[in-house]
Amino acid sequence: SPAIVWFREDLRLTDNPALQAAVSSGRPLVLLYIHDEETKGLRKLGGASKWWLDKSLKALAADIEDAGAQLTLRSGKSADVLDQVIEETGAEAIFWNRRYEKPERDLDAAIKEDLKSRGLSVSSYNARLLNEPWDIETNAGGYYKVFTPYWKSASQNYRPAPTLGKASALSSREVKSEKLKDWDLHPSGPDWSTGFDDHWTPGEAGAIQRLKDFLDGPVNGYKKNRNRPDLDDSTSGLSPHLRFGEIGPAQIWRAVQAGMESGQVNESDGRNFLSEVGWREFSYTLLYYNPDIATENYNDSFQHMPWRTDSFAYEAWTKGQTGYPIVDAGMRQLWHTGWMHNRVRMIVASFLTKHLLLPWQKGEAWFWDTLVDADHANNPASWQWTAGSGADAAPYFRIFNPITQGEKFDETGDYVRTWCPELKDLPLKHLHAPWEADDATLEKAGVKLGDTYPKPIVEHSDARQRALDAYDTLKKKR
Ligand code: FAD
Repeated sequence: SPAIVWFREDLRLTDNPALQAAVSSGRPLVLLYIHDEETKGLRKLGGASKWWLDKSLKALAADIEDAGAQLTLRSGKSADVLDQVIEETGAEAIFWNRRYEKPERDLDAAIKEDLKSRGLSVSSYNARLLNEPWDIETNAGGYYKVFTPYWKSASQNYRPAPTLGKASALSSREVKSEKLKDWDLHPSGPDWSTGFDDHWTPGEAGAIQRLKDFLDGPVNGYKKNRNRPDLDDSTSGLSPHLRFGEIGPAQIWRAVQAGMESGQVNESDGRNFLSEVGWREFSYTLLYYNPDIATENYNDSFQHMPWRTDSFAYEAWTKGQTGYPIVDAGMRQLWHTGWMHNRVRMIVASFLTKHLLLPWQKGEAWFWDTLVDADHANNPASWQWTAGSGADAAPYFRIFNPITQGEKFDETGDYVRTWCPELKDLPLKHLHAPWEADDATLEKAGVKLGDTYPKPIVEHSDARQRALDAYDTLKKKR
């Protein structure tokens, strides 16, 4: 009888433990993906994630076809769909890779219990993390709440299993499949994703190519360049591929280690890069132990924070119309490409939660909808980190100055010139604070503040003071 391989956040054929175990069972396979927007409690995908999923499933289906088999697409409640497929095929075994969000975990546990009680064999694996969250504990027991000791322990103990290679020559059962295009994952009315294709190749082959290209060059210099949004390839761009499991962190680990051993990758750059992958692992630990991390403050005292409501300011932020060029450039990069450089993510998140004093949850939700790498763990954990409410977070009173951040990290001005082209003729000296330029300079550059480009929606030092005052009230309430 056949075995079902239930693909979820592991859309790859290489180094996929659930798939390999199913192949080794010798059973014919039902290779299944379920588009589940119906089970209560699961966080619905944002628009940019749907764009990615559409392309990624297309790529997976093609790869599976090349291996001689067929990907079955079904939509509906996962538990119901599995029941149907089991009934249609007589499958007696099911294989999947684990998920770490609480509603998904609860769902998987309930399905496992039910199927086992009906005599099916259910096997689950880790394809998503270097270490399972529960395997890395402090000496006193419990999980690490600070990154540095977490990563020291997690990386020292880590030994990747040998790679499982690529599953090929698959034999699958013919099962009725829905059509991907009927799922309407690609945005329509309007299609705001037209710029995405220039930046991304969703799917496993695209992921492997990204990693290779990065290790062939840009990784050397990563430590120095990773904060520079104005440089091409200053980071790997692997995040959406990791998000959808087109590549796993173990594959990245092995490739970087091999590069360091052969001398192709500098030790310090390689280690620094792996430690960023470590931040992702840390986020998953936080998510695992704090299931409400996307909505509730990790640090309870932030529930007293006097956040404002200001729909005008929020909208200006989402549209990249705040009048602060580095913030606006970031928000427009996000809209046009589905991605934003990490340094700029920190700047725009600080601006929202401090300069505008708007709740981090609003920003998290916008990112969730617009990022192609919108991640259940990394997105909320990073928002809370920036807002000051998170584990091992940047303190709230550390308020990024968007002018000096721009000058320091967009040193050439190329980043702002790319994403705020209406400012491109301003001299670098004024690019990050156009309102400080004199009239003649603005005129020469064709910039009319309040017309071609907004005036700042808040004044930096006033906004900074307002944020500090708000934080003071919080401290008094502790
Ligand atoms: P690289 O620098 O090449 O790093 C390699 C990998 O390491 C990344 O793909 C990512 O998986 C991981 N990584 C790198 N930096 C971080 C970090 N600071 N925290 C956690 N993991 C990291 N990352 C997401 O994957 N999804 C999100 O939804 C997300 N939301 C964020 C929101 C905010 C407000 C901030 C400040 C950061 C967010 N990040 C998120 C983290 C980080 O910005 C991205 O992982 C990174 O920019 C992805 O680009 P890259 O793959 O080129 O990174």
